[in-house]
Amino acid sequence: MKIAVIDDDKIVTKSTEDIKLDGRCGAIVKVLGCGLCGSDIVKFREKISGNGTVLGHEIVAQIVDIASDTDFKSGDKIVTSHHIPCGTCNYCRHGNVSMCEHFKSTNIKPGGFSERVYLSEEHLKNVAYKIPANLTEVEASFYEPLGCCVRAVKRANLMQASKVLVVGLGSIGILMSQALKAYGMRVTGCDLLSERINFLKNLEIEAIDSRDMPEGAKFDAIFMTSGADKALDVALKAVRNGGTILVFSSTPKNTGYPNNEIYYRELTVLGSYSPSPADLKDSLKFLADGKVIVKNISTEYSLDDIQKAFDDTISNKIMKAYIKIND
Ligand SMILES: [Zn+2]
Ligand SMILES: [Zn+2]
Repeated sequence: MKIAVIDDDKIVTKSTEDIKLDGRCGAIVKVLGCGLCGSDIVKFREKISGNGTVLGHEIVAQIVDIASDTDFKSGDKIVTSHHIPCGTCNYCRHGNVSMCEHFKSTNIKPGGFSERVYLSEEHLKNVAYKIPANLTEVEASFYEPLGCCVRAVKRANLMQASKVLVVGLGSIGILMSQALKAYGMRVTGCDLLSERINFLKNLEIEAIDSRDMPEGAKFDAIFMTSGADKALDVALKAVRNGGTILVFSSTPKNTGYPNNEIYYRELTVLGSYSPSPADLKDSLKFLADGKVIVKNISTEYSLDDIQKAFDDTISNKIMKAYIKIND
């Protein structure tokens, strides 16, 4: 089978032995396609993942071999995420499922940018679903990234109809804005790129150029899907006293929010990372019900063109790459 791996400063494809069940429980799936996540870009660019790593986790797949107690069968087209919490550790009991050791140790093997992947029985039982009939494969690939956004909205624990500003309108900002709206928030998005501002406007959500933020505009919560220095300034200025800043992006220099602003203004600054099985279930429902529209966000690339997909994402030429791997 063909896989795409990190090779120093490049992503290259190579052939490797077909992955098989070999007596294990679980399933072998043919990967139909896999979204390219911002976290894949960070792992590649910052050299967090080493040579030989197969990145990719936002997969849409078809089962080709299965040994499972679940109702899935060969031929089923499914979505899945990569990590599963144990449900019983101290993190899990406090709701911090994405910090669970088991969560961090579970994964799809070898990774999404591969022609075939092994899913454990735990994946099938907890985080895999058949693709709803009304969704295309590309639309279904937003199951996991939208799950991350759903989690962020839940963690912020906002009152109905809160005024929320989403800073950064890349693909995650577009998903986040719609997730917030689906939960009944009054949403404004901001970015510097006019095509991204217009993209959100076309979804009937207010969107402005960050540089045109009205003086004195105040929001109950700011959702940070951009980690640029300027974005942090926008957040501090636009959050009302007592408001919430939800951190959903890394910053290049590990800069943060000033202590005294948090103290004197009673700000809540909280992070949100990776979704729980319940967040994922809600995500798929939003997609299937058309509450979150993901048409025209993705640009398709073949596995052989994966380097170009990385380059075009890094240069902001596209909003989101979808690597089509099998028919
Ligand atoms: Zn992702
Ligand atoms: Zn746990």
